[in-house]
Amino acid sequence: MATFALVDCNNFYASCERLFRPNLKNQPVVVLSNNDGCVIARSQEAKAVGIAMGAPLFKIRTLVEEHGVAVCSSNYALYGDISERVMTMLGSNAPSHEVYSIDECFLDLDNLGVPDLTAWCSSLRQRTYQWTGIPVSIGIGGTKTLAKLANRLAKKSAKAGGVIDLAHHPEWIDTALRKTPIGDVWGVGRRWSQMLEERGMVTAHDFAHAQDGWIRQKMGVVGLRTAHELRGYICHALEDQPQPKQTTCCSRSFGATITDKSQVHDAVMQFAERAAEKVRSADQVAGAMQIFIRTDPFNANAPQKSLSGSANFPQPTSDARAITGTATRILERIWRAGYAWKKAGILLLDLSAKGSAPPSLFDAIASPDDGLMTAMDQINAKYGRGSVKLGLAGKDRDWSMRRENLSPSFTTKWADLVSVRVG
Ligand SMILES: [Mg+2]
Repeated sequence: MATFALVDCNNFYASCERLFRPNLKNQPVVVLSNNDGCVIARSQEAKAVGIAMGAPLFKIRTLVEEHGVAVCSSNYALYGDISERVMTMLGSNAPSHEVYSIDECFLDLDNLGVPDLTAWCSSLRQRTYQWTGIPVSIGIGGTKTLAKLANRLAKKSAKAGGVIDLAHHPEWIDTALRKTPIGDVWGVGRRWSQMLEERGMVTAHDFAHAQDGWIRQKMGVVGLRTAHELRGYICHALEDQPQPKQTTCCSRSFGATITDKSQVHDAVMQFAERAAEKVRSADQVAGAMQIFIRTDPFNANAPQKSLSGSANFPQPTSDARAITGTATRILERIWRAGYAWKKAGILLLDLSAKGSAPPSLFDAIASPDDGLMTAMDQINAKYGRGSVKLGLAGKDRDWSMRRENLSPSFTTKWADLVSVRVG
């Protein structure tokens, strides 16, 4: 019998916003998507006053005013940094772990050798809160799907104290499955849950007891695996060695539409520099790239256009000079005047580990490594992202995102550090 735990941060983005702003402690908090569009995270209090997930800001104005809701623009620099702290902390406490998303982590607790797993997980919860300030819930099960299910119940149940162990309490599994709506089972999306509900399968329990042949016919082997996992047979192992990425993307919507070519160029240059940086930090090189720009599909009155172009690099590279240079040439080729552009992005494709590509005869001449990229990465790591960049990205960032309620980058910018006065 294997033992998986899923540790999930409670209302992660909202919890991060609260971390350095204790005045938000008992206040409802919501976090908005890019460009301050829709609600993507809610604190418990915000849920309680009836703010729906995905609600656009303009629709909840009245609720916001009535209940004094704190509205935050998304601050991914903060969330990413806090996530890394939580994951590092969890990883150092378990024999092996798999970071599943920005706020979820699977742990393999098989060889832990503790007599009472619930007590151990409770103290892990406390330690996580003490060390990082982030509250978490922990679900334990014999499969990843059961650990996910246990986690959901641990969050909902007041008497669970944030931890439910189904692996060592098989007698609870039946009830747990009955209490879980089919749409809340890991891997069952909206289309499948609708199909299953129409056939009278409304809970995880109903689905786990369906016929294998029928599931396979309707949902293929992926659906069958989910059913088997609910019955306690492991189909998904812990992936503690994440697959290296094949592509990396950097794209964003502009705060307002732009028509000016040099502004679009500035944005593309900045995305290209950022994408190159991402690839370097993973010790990879890219074989090709693609850039795209498009107008606002929600503005029915404006003429619509979506443009993209790609190119291969002569040698796989992660050098921002080669990447921005190629991006400029592609943009030159695909550019069309007369449209109001809303979004641009760049994809680096065909990624491989640095040094694994077969060298070509002219490599050393064509792309001598002068150490500039390494030096830039080191300076930016020490003094904060963007401290040094190539001299081509625009200085006036008219196109950048709308983030009217952005919290300070408490943990990643010296200027935003919290100061404490004693005495
Ligand atoms: Mg979460």
